[in-house]
Amino acid sequence: MAELPTIDLEAEKKEILKRYKELLKACRRTLEKGDKLLIRKAFDIALEAHKDMRRKSGEPYIYHPIAVAQICAEEIGLGTTSVVCALLHDVVEDTEITLDDIRVSFGEKEAKIIDGLTKISGVFDQSSSLQAENFRKMLLTLSDDVRVILIKLADRLHNMRTLESMKRDKQLKIASETLYLYAPLAHRLGLNAIKSELEDLGLKYTEPETYLEIQELLKEGEAERKKFISKFIEPIKEILEEQGMKFKIYGRPKSIFSINNKIKTKGVTFENIFDLFAIRIIIDSPPEREKADCWRVYSIVTDFYHPSPERLRDWISTPKANGYESLHATVMGPEGNWVEVQIRSVRMDELAEKGYAAHWKYKNSGNENQLDDWLRKIREILESPNENAMEFLDDFKLNLFAEEIFVFTPKGEIKTLPVNSTALDFAFDIHSKIGEKCIGAKVNHKLVPLSYKLKSGDQVEILTSNKQVPKEDWLGYVVTANAKSKIKNALKEEKRKVAEEGREILERKFNHLKIDFTISNINDLANYFKLPSSQELFYRIAVGNIDVKHLKDFSQEHGKIVHKSGSIKKEDNTKTLEQMVETARGKSDMLVIGENLQKIDYKLAPCCNPIPGDDVFGFITVSEGIKIHRVNCPNALQLLSNYAYRVVKAKWTTPELISFLAGIKITGIDEVGLVNNITKIISNEHNINMRSISFDTNDGTFEGTVMVFVHDTHHLTELMKKLKTVNGVLTVTRMDGQ
Ligand code: MN
Repeated sequence: MAELPTIDLEAEKKEILKRYKELLKACRRTLEKGDKLLIRKAFDIALEAHKDMRRKSGEPYIYHPIAVAQICAEEIGLGTTSVVCALLHDVVEDTEITLDDIRVSFGEKEAKIIDGLTKISGVFDQSSSLQAENFRKMLLTLSDDVRVILIKLADRLHNMRTLESMKRDKQLKIASETLYLYAPLAHRLGLNAIKSELEDLGLKYTEPETYLEIQELLKEGEAERKKFISKFIEPIKEILEEQGMKFKIYGRPKSIFSINNKIKTKGVTFENIFDLFAIRIIIDSPPEREKADCWRVYSIVTDFYHPSPERLRDWISTPKANGYESLHATVMGPEGNWVEVQIRSVRMDELAEKGYAAHWKYKNSGNENQLDDWLRKIREILESPNENAMEFLDDFKLNLFAEEIFVFTPKGEIKTLPVNSTALDFAFDIHSKIGEKCIGAKVNHKLVPLSYKLKSGDQVEILTSNKQVPKEDWLGYVVTANAKSKIKNALKEEKRKVAEEGREILERKFNHLKIDFTISNINDLANYFKLPSSQELFYRIAVGNIDVKHLKDFSQEHGKIVHKSGSIKKEDNTKTLEQMVETARGKSDMLVIGENLQKIDYKLAPCCNPIPGDDVFGFITVSEGIKIHRVNCPNALQLLSNYAYRVVKAKWTTPELISFLAGIKITGIDEVGLVNNITKIISNEHNINMRSISFDTNDGTFEGTVMVFVHDTHHLTELMKKLKTVNGVLTVTRMDGQ
């Protein structure tokens, strides 16, 4: 029999009291007359109410509300009301205690806050996917008092700190939600220390391997970094001491989350990130002198290290929207690396770590009116509809765990789409007519194809043309059910229209041959061509897939259709799908392309532009013969998995004589003569024909696409290698489509 763990209740009681005393210590600075009694009362009620409950870890439940109250007091800087509510935050939801009990014991304000906290956990701990905007709205409607939001943040922080004992699926849900909603919210409120901790903990549970790897790498380089930092600091320290300034100076490591973000978004490796830390200089300076003193320190730092003029940030003159004040400079360190230096006063530093709540300390008194001012300010931030809301959403840009993305119309309107949505999905989301006429899009002012996958924060402008009609391929470009069904409907409608023309053509032909235009005659003809329906027959006649000339091989007896001789020549374009597969496969079961171009009707798929040397396969389309795709074509997976029977193995043969179109994307730094050098390589050195070339420059960087005719992959790779050697060129990649 398994042994039950024995619990030393006496020891636990002692521990609970010890934690309570620590909480009181944290509250000391805001305590006024009578506050201690209120906190004691709240503690006693919570202790009694939760007395039979334990956390997943086995600890007494009361540890949790005490810890949440402690975070409120110590890390957010909230006062007695919040501490009382934090202690009681779970009692209404989880125990017998009612809101009325709270109202009687404490008052209306406390009852309201706890009501808000209870409602929030009711709504959103259950709903699986919340949008940022809804989240913001909900927070506002559910919480008349902003303290609700702050206590909720403290609650979440403690739950994240103790996530270890939860089951894996719970961990994932809570951690993703934290990254998605709570960390950006903390940032919004200027609670930087809490934001960073939430992000790191979030990463630790959503991507444990990544987290551990970076943690390990940081540890490995720690000694070297410390050496560098002390060497960097030394001369500055000396001068500051000489001038009699009171200060702290140290190297501060960047969070694991922000390092990982850099790796992901900038595509760099850990080894290539130089700013793994920032140097922070905090000076003890009276408010009236702090700005001047910060600049004095800046001047000292730049006496030793050369600053980068573009990377000077003065958030002292103009604080950030969330209240952040600091002076940031990036200087060239002794080993030729850029180093970020943050200069601020003690007051600014507390503000940066704890948000506005630190304000009370620097105003006349420590009463809660000051706090109320701050809380009102937060509410304003959350309520303001325009720029602030945008900025709020800005924080979601880099979110990699969300199931939804947020993208913007050119006018800044927000659209929510599922992850992996494309420009075409977006077009259909705006309106089905826009979707049907869509020929491409501009994402962040850059031209992209319909199949372009959108990312959160993208601004998308849809380009349309009246000549455009939906294509079969489009079904492979979209992920939303909405776009799929609209495309299918449009295709059906389009086909119906075309079939209508075919029907008229056939009717004329029948009249001419004196065959009655009856359903049974039409069906006989459809059967003859092995087509599933008369609609399909009409359609194929309209698109010229069935040549009406062959109909003279039929005649009529008493208006009924009769097959004259059975000698209809079956040409490629009258074949059924199975027959096409047979022809394509031939004897060798392998379609050989690059020769017999005329004999077998194949085309190179525009979605991936295959060229000789690529691994390819043939795909039999309904109306355009066989299309050759690259095995790594973006559409390949879908084609191979859904229509395996229409796939033909294919390979290239002696290709030298023919040229194929391929697209190359080039990015780099805009330098004089760069375009000329690229063009020169393409046309002179390789004797390659260029079909088109386009370059876009922006802030000193350029992005270009070149469409060239090459013989095969070898030919293309050689060209790309040469292009990489051009001064200023950073990346050269092959494009999928045109
Ligand atoms: Mn809780």
